[in-house]
Amino acid sequence: MKLEIKELHASVEGKEILKGLNLTIQTGEIHAIMGPNGAGKSTLSHVIMGNPKYEVTAGQVLLDGEDVLEMDVDERARKGLFMAFQYPVEIPGITVGRFLKRATEIQDEAEDGQKARTFVKDLRANMKFLDMDQQFINRYLNEGFSGGEKKRMEILQMLMLKPAFGILDETDSGLDIDALKVVAKGVNQLRGDDFGSIIITHYQRILNHIKPDYVHILFDGRIVTSGGEDLVEALEEKGYDWVREQYGIPE
Ligand code: ADP
Ligand code: MG
Ligand code: MG
Repeated sequence: MKLEIKELHASVEGKEILKGLNLTIQTGEIHAIMGPNGAGKSTLSHVIMGNPKYEVTAGQVLLDGEDVLEMDVDERARKGLFMAFQYPVEIPGITVGRFLKRATEIQDEAEDGQKARTFVKDLRANMKFLDMDQQFINRYLNEGFSGGEKKRMEILQMLMLKPAFGILDETDSGLDIDALKVVAKGVNQLRGDDFGSIIITHYQRILNHIKPDYVHILFDGRIVTSGGEDLVEALEEKGYDWVREQYGIPE
């Protein structure tokens, strides 16, 4: 499958944040988007997943040519988009098990019911793979979860849903190394012809564990340059001010 973002402009509370962003990603590819604070990284992920706070003022997001911006949030998930947020929500009263079951059923409506049939077996296997206690299934979603537990939860959800595209927004911020490795383990497990991922991050840390095929630098609402892992090294060495100077971006 192919996810295309074309000349995307988006605003939040009347302020333009994305200013003509272009990106194409195919399944089978892992893309890293790196950028300083406030560049618009989270805005991009919210727009892709349909958060109503973010207003798209121009441009397109297409999934195999279909207009994603016209789809409701459930439909985006059914068509294969998955998003792990920087700050996951707590849902008291819904257990992890019930939440995952429902998420799987919703996605299955678009498919053949296969995922629901093997749900229990797959859930057990994936929890084991991520070193998660089986008791976790009975806890209320994200309620009182540590940062690391929230991330494990999201990666578990991603493994259960096997989306075409997994978008991970600043999944590394504030995570300890064990939690970071769980995230990497999940992404690397799904990595293959039927899975694509956008790893959004300020830091290079997570990219030591997930090797991106392509690296993009997002600055002031646009992708200013794209390349390979050499870009990660350049950022690590020279910081984001170097990008500003190199590409003539005003302060
Ligand atoms: P990043 O994830 O790259 O740090 P964001 O996309 O979160 O950047 O934010 C880009 C800009 O948009 C920032 O100036 C931020 O303050 C603003 N912004 C983002 N979300 C909101 C919001 N919900 N309400 C008001 N301003 C927002
Ligand atoms: Mg930020
Ligand atoms: Mg962010």
